[in-house]
Amino acid sequence: MKKITKMESASHGYRAGLLEKRASVLSGLGTKVDPLARMGRIAEDDQAQISHEEFVSSRMNGLDYHQLRLVEEALDRLDAGDYGTCLACDEPIAEKRLRALPWARYCVTCQDNAGVELDTYRETVGRR
Ligand SMILES: [Zn+2]
Repeated sequence: MKKITKMESASHGYRAGLLEKRASVLSGLGTKVDPLARMGRIAEDDQAQISHEEFVSSRMNGLDYHQLRLVEEALDRLDAGDYGTCLACDEPIAEKRLRALPWARYCVTCQDNAGVELDTYRETVGRR
């Protein structure tokens, strides 16, 4: 158990960053809940009928929700004590990566292999 101490002190910083991110995502979602409510249906069969603007908007909401979920999961992992471990290969995630993406679930190697994991939130939005 003593080994964890160092990680725990670092995790306070991650937790603060995660809580901050969660607050900002939640406040962003508060202003655009409506398009999201339809997103599931749109994704299935209405895709051709919605305007480009609506699509972008609902897509943004989807990303926000995805982001929120990643943040919540990371907080859970902090509580569980297995934060900072890659979910795919069980290797520790580089501290540099966690500082940039405190909600990261995978190490850089697995992330690259997975290709489109959305915890690279901004990059994904920018690519559209
Ligand atoms: Zn990995």
